[in-house]
Amino acid sequence: MTHYDVIVLGLGAMGSSALHQLASRNVRVLGIDQYDPPHRLGSTHGESRITRVACGEGKMYSALARRSHRIWTELEQALDARLMTLNGLAVIAGPRGAHRHGNRRFLETTEEAAVLAGVDYKLLSPADMMARHPAFRIQSDEKVYYDWDSGYVMPEACIRAQLVRARQQKAEIGINERVLSYESVSGGVRVETDRGVYHAGQLIVTAGPWLPQILRTSVPVDLKVQRQVLYWFALEDRKALDMYRPENCPVYIWMVPDRDQNIYGFPAIGGVSDGMKVATEQEKTQDTPENVARTVSEDERRSMFETYVAPFFNGVTSQCVRAEVCLYTKVKDARFIIDRHPDMPNVIVASPCSGHGFKHSGGIGEVLAMLALGEPIPDDIDMRQFGFEEPSP
Ligand SMILES: Cc1cc2nc3c(=O)[nH]c(=O)nc-3n(C[C@H](O)[C@H](O)[C@H](O)COP(=O)(O)OP(=O)(O)OC[C@H]3O[C@@H](n4cnc5c(N)ncnc54)[C@H](O)[C@@H]3O)c2cc1C
Repeated sequence: MTHYDVIVLGLGAMGSSALHQLASRNVRVLGIDQYDPPHRLGSTHGESRITRVACGEGKMYSALARRSHRIWTELEQALDARLMTLNGLAVIAGPRGAHRHGNRRFLETTEEAAVLAGVDYKLLSPADMMARHPAFRIQSDEKVYYDWDSGYVMPEACIRAQLVRARQQKAEIGINERVLSYESVSGGVRVETDRGVYHAGQLIVTAGPWLPQILRTSVPVDLKVQRQVLYWFALEDRKALDMYRPENCPVYIWMVPDRDQNIYGFPAIGGVSDGMKVATEQEKTQDTPENVARTVSEDERRSMFETYVAPFFNGVTSQCVRAEVCLYTKVKDARFIIDRHPDMPNVIVASPCSGHGFKHSGGIGEVLAMLALGEPIPDDIDMRQFGFEEPSP
């Protein structure tokens, strides 16, 4: 049986980051994934993710986002790669808007978090916002929060970069290898896969939407796996493309008025026919990675355009050029779980998704490596927020 200091189960956003951080600390580490990441079956695909330091989900997240920005900048330099573009963020909300991640005060919490984290922001009037960014059609009773410490990250490129760096730093990687089970044994953990049996001092479980299946023994948390759809709509012409270029169009989170769901989206990263990417967030249905509908119907595409795109944007056509299904793994109140398994002290479980985890994944990988190696966690990260047990208010 081969022995490692640490095994990482699942090499998506969180696991590839943890593997990279562990390898950079010179320990014997093995990463295992059932597929060949990045892939399109979990939570980390679809070209782009919003990143922001001031988070409407809570003030405790800023420290993780800042760490991630630092880590991705270092990776960009080490590999001469482009991972992150900070082109600005607009959070738009008014009295008739849907709420996001259960927080009716998302815009106000974002502003409070910006003040605490020293983020440079402004409140813009709808008229100001539309004069600067003509892609948007905002109602006069809506408010706009705008900051410059935000933008988008390329999730597939980040996973690739983290795995390349991990390999360069002597991590071992098993791809297309499925973990069947793990158990606590004397001195650590025994991990069985469809290819062999390994032993490690510590196991980090970063299995994303497969977590509910792999956490076979009962853990005190309800993980809800939810199907979400990302859409790309073609633009009208080159003039429209100009409005959506990153320098003219920030990333945005918009509690659009009189609708069930909020929307969020990105500038155009390609040409006129590659379109602009926009999405909603649904909370009504639950799925598993095995039974989820992976195709997006014509009805879904039409309804998205009519309900959430046509009324709110200029320069976009109804032609949906691409759609991707992706999975959220949600915890109540959109919290993250980063904690030791209650019954297996050598197993660390990470479910930091809840629909907003990617921007923190660089920093979370660092925290996971520190936890596994018994290093002190920096004071600005309040781990009590991320335990299985809900923090007291
Ligand atoms: C539509 C959508 C939009 C999002 N938008 C944003 C955004 O704008 N900003 C943001 O910050 N976050 C966003 N998120 C959240 C973010 O993308 C996720 O939090 C993050 O990608 C989760 O990564 P993960 O590593 O937990 O899961 P994954 O990347 O899915 O990785 C889990 C890995 O574990 C492997 N695995 C599972 N079981 C086994 C097994 N038994 N054996 C071996 N391997 C196994 C899987 O193959 C997979 O590779 C979004 C998520 C979705 C779905």
